[in-house]
Amino acid sequence: MQNILDTLEKGERIDENLAYKLYELDLFTLAKYAHKKREALHGKKVYFNVNRHINPTNICADTCKFCAFSAHRKNPNPYFMTHEEIMKIVDKTVKNGTKEIHIVSAHNKDRSWQWYLEIFKLIKDKYPTLHIKAMTAAEIDFLYRRFKLSYEEVIEKMLEYGVDSMPGGGAEIFDEEVRAKICKGKVSSENWLKIHKLWHQKGRQSNATMLFGHIEKREHRIDHMLRLRKLQDETNGFNAFIPLVWQKDNSFLDIKEQADSEEILKTIAISRILLDNIKNIKAYWATMGINLAMVAQEFGANDLDGTIEKENIQSAGGAKSAKGMQLKTFIDMIKSSNLIPVERDSLYNELKKYA
Ligand code: SF4
Repeated sequence: MQNILDTLEKGERIDENLAYKLYELDLFTLAKYAHKKREALHGKKVYFNVNRHINPTNICADTCKFCAFSAHRKNPNPYFMTHEEIMKIVDKTVKNGTKEIHIVSAHNKDRSWQWYLEIFKLIKDKYPTLHIKAMTAAEIDFLYRRFKLSYEEVIEKMLEYGVDSMPGGGAEIFDEEVRAKICKGKVSSENWLKIHKLWHQKGRQSNATMLFGHIEKREHRIDHMLRLRKLQDETNGFNAFIPLVWQKDNSFLDIKEQADSEEILKTIAISRILLDNIKNIKAYWATMGINLAMVAQEFGANDLDGTIEKENIQSAGGAKSAKGMQLKTFIDMIKSSNLIPVERDSLYNELKKYA
């Protein structure tokens, strides 16, 4: 343990061998070093954006066992939206001040690739300055499997039609054995990383997620973060790391309890320490609740995600996030924690500081 404490004290990179020992440290030791790093990078700022999530379909050709969102026998309400319906939502939310549209879909084999991709052009033609964050690596892989479009071809179309950045979804847990148990058939870890690398090589940015608190073990989380760190050393294309707390309702994993607060905060703190080359750690309030997400700001996180407006994926699994969050609530909560609320754009440029 002395070795790891010395490395943390010196502020040096934690190597692979030491990384696997991080969870053995107590929460407050981890918090001390994670918060130090967070303060050095961001001071007292807590970032959020004003965004709208849209999930155009929940009909899915894949059958991830952890998933409560897709239409299946525990959630039997299949839907898909037409482009006109999506545009109506976009029109309304832009009037309300939304600056980012975040579009993620299930893998619907009855929709064409044009249905998946051309919506971005419709949005961009009408709202050229609206940031479009869309297409997880899992969706890109699905279009490859379904329509035989290469990853490069899908990415070219995303760029042509106006996608600005990629969300981090579909990463789940990179360990191949765990992956085979929870999301067999979906994009492989290797291809998830390859797709993000291709995107970064186009000079574009993306986020990276990690779904935890299900059947994975702590070492799988460390392995996941190390694989991300390695790619980030190469490309520097990840904006933020987002540890997602798995939601237990309506899934096909037989796990009674979710990760507790201590485990969640330890994971946030370790991610801040280990991912020394990813600037932002997001405590995504939709999966851990706004109160714990606020506490996480003292344990290494510096971002809460956004107002979202309507949330389908985590709320299907039991999270209390269906209606999004009011801007004023964010600001008041951050201020009352003696931190500084900062509205950002999707690429972490500061738009407004609520001092
Ligand atoms: S996680 Fe995504 S790919 Fe997997 S079943 Fe759910 S919607 Fe489909």
